[in-house]
Amino acid sequence: MRLNLSNRESGTVKAAINNYGDSLKEEYECPCGKGIVVYERDNIVGHKHRQTDCHCKDCDKIYSFNRGEATPKN
Ligand SMILES: [Zn+2]
Repeated sequence: MRLNLSNRESGTVKAAINNYGDSLKEEYECPCGKGIVVYERDNIVGHKHRQTDCHCKDCDKIYSFNRGEATPKN
């Protein structure tokens, strides 16, 4: 299922001299509406990172998350 985007931040990150990258943070409403799902992505040379965290105990048990998409666990 698609989640509703509630907040989005993006920016440029200075990681080291002559080493710039961009970062992105998106917050989504969780499926039950009581918590949030946070997606973070850093795209810096030598440091690529992306992760999705669900800050809702209930939904974290039921769904697995990938950015703004929730998939029911079996
Ligand atoms: Zn929830």
